[in-house]
Amino acid sequence: MRRVLLLLVLLGVFGVPLAVYQQWLDVPPRWNPWAPLDIRATPSLLTPFKLWRLEDDPGLCQQALATSPLRYTALADSSPAADCPLENTLRIQALGVRFSSSFISTCPLAAAFALFERHALQTAAQEVFGQPVVQVEHVGSFACRSIAGSQRRSQHASANALDIVGFRLQDGRRISVLRDWPGEGEAARFLRLVHKGACASFNVTLGPEYNAAHRDHFHVDMGLFRMCR
Ligand SMILES: [Zn+2]
Repeated sequence: MRRVLLLLVLLGVFGVPLAVYQQWLDVPPRWNPWAPLDIRATPSLLTPFKLWRLEDDPGLCQQALATSPLRYTALADSSPAADCPLENTLRIQALGVRFSSSFISTCPLAAAFALFERHALQTAAQEVFGQPVVQVEHVGSFACRSIAGSQRRSQHASANALDIVGFRLQDGRRISVLRDWPGEGEAARFLRLVHKGACASFNVTLGPEYNAAHRDHFHVDMGLFRMCR
Protein backbone atom coordinates (compact mmCIF):
# COMPACT_ATOMS: atom_id res chain seq x y z
CA MET A 1 0.00 0.00 0.00
CA ARG A 2 2.83 2.38 0.91
CA ARG A 3 4.52 1.67 -2.40
CA VAL A 4 1.39 2.41 -4.39
CA LEU A 5 0.99 5.67 -2.52
CA LEU A 6 4.62 6.61 -3.20
CA LEU A 7 4.18 5.78 -6.87
CA LEU A 8 1.10 8.00 -7.06
CA VAL A 9 2.93 10.88 -5.38
CA LEU A 10 5.89 10.52 -7.76
CA LEU A 11 3.53 10.41 -10.71
CA GLY A 12 1.88 13.61 -9.52
CA VAL A 13 5.13 15.47 -8.88
CA PHE A 14 7.00 14.43 -12.02
CA GLY A 15 4.46 12.74 -14.29
CA VAL A 16 1.86 15.50 -14.59
CA PRO A 17 4.31 18.31 -15.47
CA LEU A 18 6.05 15.97 -17.95
CA ALA A 19 2.75 15.02 -19.55
CA VAL A 20 1.84 18.71 -19.91
CA TYR A 21 5.29 19.56 -21.29
CA GLN A 22 5.12 16.68 -23.82
CA GLN A 23 1.57 17.71 -24.71
CA TRP A 24 0.21 14.25 -23.83
CA LEU A 25 -2.15 16.04 -21.51
CA ASP A 26 -4.20 18.91 -22.88
CA VAL A 27 -4.61 21.76 -20.38
CA PRO A 28 -5.91 25.30 -21.09
CA PRO A 29 -2.99 27.69 -22.00
CA ARG A 30 -3.59 29.69 -18.81
CA TRP A 31 -2.79 26.61 -16.71
CA ASN A 32 0.00 25.30 -18.92
CA PRO A 33 3.36 26.69 -17.70
CA TRP A 34 4.90 26.05 -21.13
CA ALA A 35 2.22 27.82 -23.14
CA PRO A 36 3.35 31.30 -24.24
CA LEU A 37 2.30 34.16 -21.97
CA ASP A 38 -0.95 35.76 -23.13
CA ILE A 39 -1.09 39.38 -21.92
CA ARG A 40 -4.90 39.38 -22.25
CA ALA A 41 -5.40 36.45 -19.86
CA THR A 42 -6.04 37.23 -16.19
CA PRO A 43 -2.71 36.70 -14.36
CA SER A 44 -2.46 33.41 -12.42
CA LEU A 45 0.06 31.67 -10.17
CA LEU A 46 1.94 30.62 -13.30
CA THR A 47 2.42 34.16 -14.63
CA PRO A 48 5.76 34.81 -12.81
CA PHE A 49 7.12 31.55 -14.28
CA LYS A 50 5.92 32.49 -17.75
CA LEU A 51 7.53 35.94 -17.42
CA TRP A 52 10.77 34.37 -16.19
CA ARG A 53 10.90 32.13 -19.27
CA LEU A 54 10.93 35.22 -21.53
CA GLU A 55 14.30 36.34 -20.20
CA ASP A 56 16.55 34.30 -22.48
CA ASP A 57 14.11 33.75 -25.29
CA PRO A 58 13.50 36.86 -27.46
CA GLY A 59 11.26 34.85 -29.84
CA LEU A 60 8.98 33.63 -27.06
CA CYS A 61 8.96 37.11 -25.53
CA GLN A 62 7.89 38.80 -28.76
CA GLN A 63 5.23 36.12 -29.17
CA ALA A 64 3.87 37.24 -25.78
CA LEU A 65 4.02 40.93 -26.76
CA ALA A 66 2.01 40.15 -29.91
CA THR A 67 -0.97 39.46 -27.58
CA SER A 68 -0.83 43.11 -26.40
CA PRO A 69 -1.26 46.42 -28.27
CA LEU A 70 2.37 47.34 -27.51
CA ARG A 71 4.10 49.34 -30.28
CA TYR A 72 7.86 48.83 -30.26
CA THR A 73 10.99 48.28 -32.32
CA ALA A 74 13.21 45.29 -31.48
CA LEU A 75 16.83 46.41 -30.94
CA ALA A 76 19.98 44.51 -31.85
CA ASP A 77 22.16 43.55 -28.86
CA SER A 78 24.67 46.33 -28.19
CA SER A 79 27.05 47.84 -25.63
CA PRO A 80 26.28 51.56 -25.32
CA ALA A 81 28.70 51.64 -22.35
CA ALA A 82 31.62 49.28 -21.71
CA ASP A 83 30.11 47.41 -18.75
CA CYS A 84 26.43 47.81 -19.58
CA PRO A 85 25.61 45.51 -22.49
CA LEU A 86 22.01 45.56 -23.72
CA GLU A 87 20.47 42.18 -24.62
CA ASN A 88 16.95 41.21 -25.63
CA THR A 89 15.84 44.87 -25.65
CA LEU A 90 13.20 46.91 -27.44
CA ARG A 91 12.36 50.58 -27.91
CA ILE A 92 8.88 51.05 -26.51
CA GLN A 93 6.72 53.63 -28.29
CA ALA A 94 3.18 53.17 -26.94
CA LEU A 95 0.73 50.63 -25.60
CA GLY A 96 -2.69 52.09 -26.23
CA VAL A 97 -1.57 54.26 -23.34
CA ARG A 98 1.07 56.84 -24.39
CA PHE A 99 4.42 57.40 -22.70
CA SER A 100 5.92 60.82 -21.93
CA SER A 101 8.80 59.63 -24.15
CA SER A 102 9.83 56.39 -25.83
CA PHE A 103 12.30 54.26 -23.85
CA ILE A 104 14.58 51.23 -24.09
CA SER A 105 13.33 48.18 -22.20
CA THR A 106 14.23 44.53 -21.88
CA CYS A 107 11.55 42.39 -23.46
CA PRO A 108 10.44 40.83 -20.11
CA LEU A 109 10.06 44.29 -18.54
CA ALA A 110 7.90 45.32 -21.50
CA ALA A 111 5.76 42.18 -21.07
CA ALA A 112 5.38 42.83 -17.33
CA PHE A 113 4.41 46.44 -18.09
CA ALA A 114 1.79 45.34 -20.62
CA LEU A 115 0.29 42.99 -17.98
CA PHE A 116 0.38 45.75 -15.36
CA GLU A 117 -1.24 48.28 -17.70
CA ARG A 118 -4.11 46.01 -18.64
CA HIS A 119 -4.82 44.23 -15.37
CA ALA A 120 -3.91 46.84 -12.74
CA LEU A 121 -3.39 50.41 -13.98
CA GLN A 122 -6.51 50.79 -16.13
CA THR A 123 -8.73 48.85 -13.71
CA ALA A 124 -7.57 51.14 -10.87
CA ALA A 125 -8.24 54.26 -13.00
CA GLN A 126 -11.73 53.03 -13.92
CA GLU A 127 -12.49 52.11 -10.32
CA VAL A 128 -11.38 55.42 -8.80
CA PHE A 129 -11.97 57.99 -11.57
CA GLY A 130 -14.31 56.19 -13.98
CA GLN A 131 -11.94 56.94 -16.87
CA PRO A 132 -8.72 55.54 -18.32
CA VAL A 133 -5.12 56.67 -17.95
CA VAL A 134 -3.99 58.02 -21.33
CA GLN A 135 -0.34 58.77 -20.54
CA VAL A 136 2.32 57.30 -18.27
CA GLU A 137 4.98 59.80 -17.20
CA HIS A 138 8.41 58.31 -16.55
CA VAL A 139 11.95 59.54 -16.01
CA GLY A 140 13.77 56.78 -17.80
CA SER A 141 14.76 53.14 -17.92
CA PHE A 142 18.37 52.81 -19.04
CA ALA A 143 21.23 54.31 -17.01
CA CYS A 144 24.64 52.63 -16.79
CA ARG A 145 25.09 52.87 -13.02
CA SER A 146 25.12 51.02 -9.68
CA ILE A 147 22.41 51.20 -7.01
CA ALA A 148 22.81 54.47 -5.05
CA GLY A 149 25.06 53.84 -2.02
CA SER A 150 25.97 50.30 -3.13
CA GLN A 151 28.39 48.38 -5.38
CA ARG A 152 25.63 46.36 -6.96
CA ARG A 153 24.65 47.10 -10.54
CA SER A 154 21.25 48.71 -10.84
CA GLN A 155 18.63 46.97 -13.02
CA HIS A 156 18.65 50.30 -14.89
CA ALA A 157 22.12 49.33 -16.16
CA SER A 158 20.51 46.68 -18.38
CA ALA A 159 17.30 48.64 -19.18
CA ASN A 160 15.45 46.18 -16.94
CA ALA A 161 13.87 48.91 -14.76
CA LEU A 162 11.56 51.90 -15.22
CA ASP A 163 10.93 54.92 -12.98
CA ILE A 164 7.33 56.14 -13.13
CA VAL A 165 6.54 59.60 -11.74
CA GLY A 166 2.90 60.11 -12.68
CA PHE A 167 -0.14 59.48 -14.84
CA ARG A 168 -2.41 61.62 -16.99
CA LEU A 169 -6.12 60.82 -17.10
CA GLN A 170 -8.42 61.14 -20.10
CA ASP A 171 -9.87 64.45 -18.82
CA GLY A 172 -6.33 65.92 -18.64
CA ARG A 173 -5.93 65.64 -14.87
CA ARG A 174 -2.39 64.73 -13.80
CA ILE A 175 -1.68 62.36 -10.89
CA SER A 176 1.79 62.78 -9.38
CA VAL A 177 3.53 60.30 -7.07
CA LEU A 178 5.37 63.13 -5.29
CA ARG A 179 2.31 65.34 -4.73
CA ASP A 180 -0.51 62.81 -4.38
CA TRP A 181 1.02 59.81 -2.54
CA PRO A 182 1.00 61.53 0.90
CA GLY A 183 -2.63 62.70 0.52
CA GLU A 184 -5.85 60.96 1.48
CA GLY A 185 -8.08 61.74 -1.47
CA GLU A 186 -8.97 59.67 -4.51
CA ALA A 187 -5.59 60.33 -6.16
CA ALA A 188 -3.81 58.75 -3.17
CA ARG A 189 -6.21 55.79 -3.23
CA PHE A 190 -5.52 55.38 -6.95
CA LEU A 191 -1.73 55.44 -6.41
CA ARG A 192 -2.00 52.79 -3.69
CA LEU A 193 -4.00 50.52 -5.99
CA VAL A 194 -1.44 51.09 -8.76
CA HIS A 195 1.45 50.28 -6.40
CA LYS A 196 -0.25 47.06 -5.26
CA GLY A 197 -0.97 46.10 -8.86
CA ALA A 198 2.64 46.78 -9.87
CA CYS A 199 3.83 44.37 -7.16
CA ALA A 200 1.79 41.63 -8.82
CA SER A 201 3.39 42.17 -12.26
CA PHE A 202 6.98 43.25 -11.65
CA ASN A 203 9.60 41.38 -9.63
CA VAL A 204 10.50 44.55 -7.73
CA THR A 205 8.28 47.56 -6.98
CA LEU A 206 9.61 50.37 -4.76
CA GLY A 207 7.56 53.42 -3.86
CA PRO A 208 7.68 56.41 -1.50
CA GLU A 209 7.37 54.17 1.60
CA TYR A 210 10.67 52.47 0.72
CA ASN A 211 13.02 55.43 1.20
CA ALA A 212 13.40 59.15 0.55
CA ALA A 213 15.06 58.51 -2.83
CA HIS A 214 11.74 57.04 -4.00
CA ARG A 215 9.39 59.74 -2.66
CA ASP A 216 8.67 60.99 -6.18
CA HIS A 217 8.46 57.77 -8.22
CA PHE A 218 7.64 54.09 -8.45
CA HIS A 219 10.70 52.05 -9.39
CA VAL A 220 9.71 48.79 -11.11
CA ASP A 221 12.13 46.15 -12.37
CA MET A 222 12.46 42.55 -13.51
CA GLY A 223 15.63 41.64 -11.59
CA LEU A 224 16.24 38.34 -9.79
CA PHE A 225 14.71 39.33 -6.45
CA ARG A 226 11.09 39.83 -5.52
CA MET A 227 10.37 42.86 -3.41
CA CYS A 228 7.27 45.02 -2.83
CA ARG A 229 7.84 48.10 -0.68
ZN1 LIG B 1 14.66 53.13 -10.63
